[in-house]
Amino acid sequence: MSNFEYLLSPIDKIKGVGKKTLSSFNKKKIFTIFDLLWHLPISKIETADDTEVNDLQVGKNYSIKVTPIKYNFPRIRNLPNRVICEKSGVKLDCIFFNSYEGYIRKLLPLNEEVIIHGKANNFRNKFQFVNPTSKNTNNLNIINDDRKYSLSDGLTLNKYNLILNNVLQNLPNLDEWLPLSVSNLFDNVTWKECVIKIHQEEIRKIRNTKYFKRLVFDEIFANFLLSSNIRSKIKKIKKKNKIINLQHQNKIISNLKFKLTIDQISSLKNINKDMSSNEKMFRLLQGDVGSGKTIVSVIAALNAVKSGYQVAMMAPTEILAIQHYKFILENFNSYCNTEILTGKTEYKKRQKILNDLSNNKINILVGTHSLFQEKITYSNLGFIIIDEQHKFGVSQRKKLSDKGGKDCDVLVMSATPIPRTMMMTIYGDMDISLIKSKPKYRQPIKTYSKNESKINDVVNFIKNEIKKKNQVFWVCPLIKESNKIDHQSTTEKYKYLSKIFKNKVDIVHGSMSKEEKDKVLNRFNDRKIDILVSTTVIEVGIDFPNANVIVIENSNKYGLSQLHQLRGRVGRGNKESSCILMFKTGLSENARKRITILKNTNDGFKIAEEDLKIRGYGDILGFKQSGLKKYNLADPIQHEDLFNIAEKEIKKIEKNKIKTKNFNNLLKLYDKVSIINEII
Ligand code: ADP
Ligand code: MG
Repeated sequence: MSNFEYLLSPIDKIKGVGKKTLSSFNKKKIFTIFDLLWHLPISKIETADDTEVNDLQVGKNYSIKVTPIKYNFPRIRNLPNRVICEKSGVKLDCIFFNSYEGYIRKLLPLNEEVIIHGKANNFRNKFQFVNPTSKNTNNLNIINDDRKYSLSDGLTLNKYNLILNNVLQNLPNLDEWLPLSVSNLFDNVTWKECVIKIHQEEIRKIRNTKYFKRLVFDEIFANFLLSSNIRSKIKKIKKKNKIINLQHQNKIISNLKFKLTIDQISSLKNINKDMSSNEKMFRLLQGDVGSGKTIVSVIAALNAVKSGYQVAMMAPTEILAIQHYKFILENFNSYCNTEILTGKTEYKKRQKILNDLSNNKINILVGTHSLFQEKITYSNLGFIIIDEQHKFGVSQRKKLSDKGGKDCDVLVMSATPIPRTMMMTIYGDMDISLIKSKPKYRQPIKTYSKNESKINDVVNFIKNEIKKKNQVFWVCPLIKESNKIDHQSTTEKYKYLSKIFKNKVDIVHGSMSKEEKDKVLNRFNDRKIDILVSTTVIEVGIDFPNANVIVIENSNKYGLSQLHQLRGRVGRGNKESSCILMFKTGLSENARKRITILKNTNDGFKIAEEDLKIRGYGDILGFKQSGLKKYNLADPIQHEDLFNIAEKEIKKIEKNKIKTKNFNNLLKLYDKVSIINEII
């Protein structure tokens, strides 16, 4: 068996891991031997107390210093192995069920003082410890079986340590995959050394050592190498370059009702450069909510059309698709033929669209997932736009881009601001354009917090806004996995508000059908109602420029990024807008922090960073879905320095076209190869 096969083999390859133990491991997401390595000790057995054997109390846990003096291994089924130990001249037994002799000899070597840990028991007037763990500080060759782990049901600490020891003792020596310059940073400690070390100490003590950091670096490096591999594969795809007609583009821009921001212009330049090169574009357009990504993508689309290509624009929801479609139709009808295709398009209409598409009569097709799921033949598809892309993982977006064939450029747009380290992790396979600045005239959203007992103040505030012809979102708490309660809370609020604002309120909630929802949203869009009561189902990315107040009930229940996304539903027009965060009495410290941060800044990137600090990176919107996420130890906030080193190293590798078999070993081990195979 090769080194890798051993590490990547299922955990039940290890002696002593039966069906029951396996399922306990699986509960902890431990499937392979390799997985086991990343569950770190949460604490260590305390130092020995000085209780004498005769003072032990049955049922209590002790760590006491003893000297093993005799083994008794009966070799008869069902009879346990026994080690007779001594403390201050008094004997006590250590009893082992299901443990191998070799293990016991290492755990309790004869005539050496060790600390044993376990529960005191009394059997036939003699004290005994059943399956104790032990620690020996003098002899480093002896396994230190004194770690504690957080375990799932059905797994004892003893058993766990036994299995882990088995693994640690059999860890293979692997060829070094780190470039020498990096390995030097960690005093050239080997992977194997590090893995053993991180199990010898409590995590809080090991976190800042070179051993831990090297392993963190390995994870980041594996991730970045994967991205780099994908990127270079994509760059190898040669396409026919598009011709960008700048005169045409400038005419479009000068007819806009507004001036493009600096970041919009520079993003457009990036996109044009990609389109007119003969390498396939695979670019992310990243910008906070309301930063104006749509228009950038649409101008790019019109450029592609002018150059003779068809464009597919995909939105995550139907209502967003409709919105994009209307936007193009109303503003750019003279430049292109646009159609919309969704799951709801009627049969006849669909047939006509498909027909026109294959005859090149349609230039831009807007739609949802259905744009790619069905047998649609484009006559000359050259550009794909994927909006609000955080809903897709790395392999999904690659598949989408492949549908277009090699001449097809791909632009994905995401409104989830994330710190740079995470951007490198999630979108390392793409080129990135950032829109940081918001349109100039736009006024920052004023954010207030209000105790729910003061709802009358809020109602009065809203009355005033409605007088000024403004519209209001009223967001009710979404109660997890319970559409019913969720429904109740919105309905109650709807009734309450309807009494005050007659005929001006409507409602959307999770248990409504898509058609019903869309109907209401359209009524809101057409300003037939002033207040929309909803749960968080109001769609990401939807644009109601006239809505400028959002009330969020029970705001303490949401994470920072989520609150920021919700708040982003307003402040899209040129009016002053406000966000009212309502809360119940008794806020937690974190909730208080979140509210303060939101009051102080509208900058999505800053908020994302603060969010990371509060919640840890695993929770950030969209991160879980990304196929790249496989960090066990690395943390984009804590290890920013290591991310930066990895980034530099990857650039060096790309520049000098360095390729070694050891990189592949790293990828294999860190489970990246399957992703590469899947998407390339
Ligand atoms: P997002 O980046 O969240 O997708 P949108 O593209 O929906 O944002 O833009 C939000 C609103 O801002 C739209 O109503 C759009 O017309 C408007 N907008 C976009 N760019 C500008 C600009 N440079 N100046 C003024 N308004 C703009
Ligand atoms: Mg958008």
